[in-house]
Amino acid sequence: MEMAERVEALRQKLNQYGYEYYVLDRPSVPDAEYDRLMNELIEIETDYPELRSPDSPTQRVGGVPLDAFVKVTHDTPMLSLGNVFSKEELVEWVERIEKDLGYSPLFVAELKFDGLAVSLKYEEGRLVRGATRGDGTTGEDITQNLKTIRSIPLRLNEDVTFEVRGEAYMPKRSFEHLNDERERLGEPLFANPRNAAAGSLRQLDSKIAASRNLAFFAYGLVSTDDLVASHDESLEYLRRLGIAVSQEYTTCHMADELWDYIETYVTKRSELPYEIDGIVIKVAAYEEQEQLGFTAKSPRWAVAYKFPAEEVVTTIEDVDFSVGRTGKVTPRARFAPVSVAGSTVTYATLHNEDFIVEKDLHIGDRVVIKKAGDVIPAVVSALVSERTGEETEIVFPTHCPACESELVRLEGEADHRCVNPECPAQLLEGLIHFVSRPAMNIDGLGEKVITQLHASDLVHNVADLYRLDRDALLALDRMGETSVTNLLAAIEQSKQNSLERVLFALGIRLVGQKAAVLIAERFETMEAVMEASVDELTSIDGIGTKMAESIVLYFEKPEARDLVRDLGAAGVNLTFKGAKRPVADADAPLAGKTVVLTGKLHEMTRGEAGKKLELLGASVTGSVSKNTDLLVAGEKAGSKLTKAESLGIEVWDEAALLAFLADQT
Ligand code: NAD
Repeated sequence: MEMAERVEALRQKLNQYGYEYYVLDRPSVPDAEYDRLMNELIEIETDYPELRSPDSPTQRVGGVPLDAFVKVTHDTPMLSLGNVFSKEELVEWVERIEKDLGYSPLFVAELKFDGLAVSLKYEEGRLVRGATRGDGTTGEDITQNLKTIRSIPLRLNEDVTFEVRGEAYMPKRSFEHLNDERERLGEPLFANPRNAAAGSLRQLDSKIAASRNLAFFAYGLVSTDDLVASHDESLEYLRRLGIAVSQEYTTCHMADELWDYIETYVTKRSELPYEIDGIVIKVAAYEEQEQLGFTAKSPRWAVAYKFPAEEVVTTIEDVDFSVGRTGKVTPRARFAPVSVAGSTVTYATLHNEDFIVEKDLHIGDRVVIKKAGDVIPAVVSALVSERTGEETEIVFPTHCPACESELVRLEGEADHRCVNPECPAQLLEGLIHFVSRPAMNIDGLGEKVITQLHASDLVHNVADLYRLDRDALLALDRMGETSVTNLLAAIEQSKQNSLERVLFALGIRLVGQKAAVLIAERFETMEAVMEASVDELTSIDGIGTKMAESIVLYFEKPEARDLVRDLGAAGVNLTFKGAKRPVADADAPLAGKTVVLTGKLHEMTRGEAGKKLELLGASVTGSVSKNTDLLVAGEKAGSKLTKAESLGIEVWDEAALLAFLADQT
């Protein structure tokens, strides 16, 4: 594409996204996508000065003010901020400042609140006007709406006349409540607290703004040379006057100290009751700020470090289907590699066919993916407007990708399953599970060796592991004398395991580690377990009907009985040795996590959900504290949800819980 055409395409897109974001308060792409396109445009305009234009989005601040409001002209323009995205870029920025000033100045580092910029004019200590930033020169008069915010005083402690700049924002809690309510009423949800705050303040009826529980932090004073001499002094001064100022700021001289502050808030961010999207760094002294000046769009004396994006856009390049040990076929999207929340992502599960249909996903689609904190990446939505017509449907296979037998999807289930007991993919996954640490714990039998054993026809089922001999093992790639000796010893050792390990290792559907212990404790021998009825099994506290049925079904199969007989014949212990109930193994998906359940669930009771989570290693408790890792909040969740949010604890709704549980079977 010609460079001029690319520039035109970028400007068109950025203008469209800017309009959706600033005017409609309804962005259609994540910020990271907007920033990426903006950076590309800045780079081209830098390399090709002839393509620059004063009306380029790179030269403009924000959006256009809405006609519905009285327009106000800002005496001092309200600008945007330059961005840095890494430590290197921050250091470069600091070095440029030091070079321009000839020395290292004092910096103030503060939080970048994710709301919208407002200007407040006080005359003789009274609030006389509140306005939005608009396009930087002309904003909207939203005084009535701003007056509804409690942290904006209508009257100050002193009769001063000045203009304050700050951020009006929506606390996380207010945002959740607002979206819950909108969902209940079937109204469109706000994408994030920023858009919700902007949408609330640009309502003609100030009762709406009043109902939205907004808040405000001041972050600067305009034209106040005679009152204070530096930005940090202005923050303290504003606080004394009764205006809300965040106390999270710091002052320092060195780039390293600035970076330390940034890193602190990368972690602390989730604990704050409001959203921040970065850290703003400002040269403290007004005199130095003046000396450094402005570009068309932003001050040279300030910069914003943007946190790594938690939502980004990438392309689904392909979808593959894998068969798990229970026969479940899972579709997995392969992406063009993309960096999200600081790590590179190339795959995400698409769960099942319903998920693909519901999200209307295609191969070739540009999709929004999300990864908050250390959570697994997930596909949020497809950018339908970006389709070119080249996208292709994701066709769910009718036959097993490993053994080609026909897949079944049972009534009422979302998953497709391969039910062929001889399916090699299931056998392989089953072998990997059998030897894993929480199961038979056979050291030295990693996935690679198992795959080799399986491929070389030495092992067809788990009992074959106990028939391996030294020569066969030595013939494998990269297997020396010592590893073979160790491996044989580990296999021998595993014969002594207590019943619950064998029971878990068999990989019976729905039977997790904890359930295996409960069953082994009750029945004591494998024989007894094999003969147990659904009723007998469900009489154990912690074993539900579905699991009991799955166990009975498993042992009805002659292959399963043969397998157990072979294991016994090979010398594997099949009795309960009275082992203490283990704390969930460190490998269990929720090991070490404390989970609280609240609100009404539809698909199961809270008790059932709790049991399932416990079987996956979680410890389920009744009340939320700072030790809680996860809150599962069903319908009408109340104070526990509020508390969890204020502590920044991860919250799942029922859909998230079900998706997670589905992935574990
Ligand atoms: P900005 O958000 O990068 O920074 C400037 C703003 O930061 C100020 O106006 C002020 O409101 C705010 N701010 C918060 N805390 C502050 C503090 N302590 N000191 C000073 N300012 C503080 O700039 P922008 O021009 O408002 O908007 C660009 C942002 O909007 C980008 O992050 C971009 O991704 C996003 N955007 C997204 C879309 C989209 O479609 N998703 C479209 C347009 C813009």
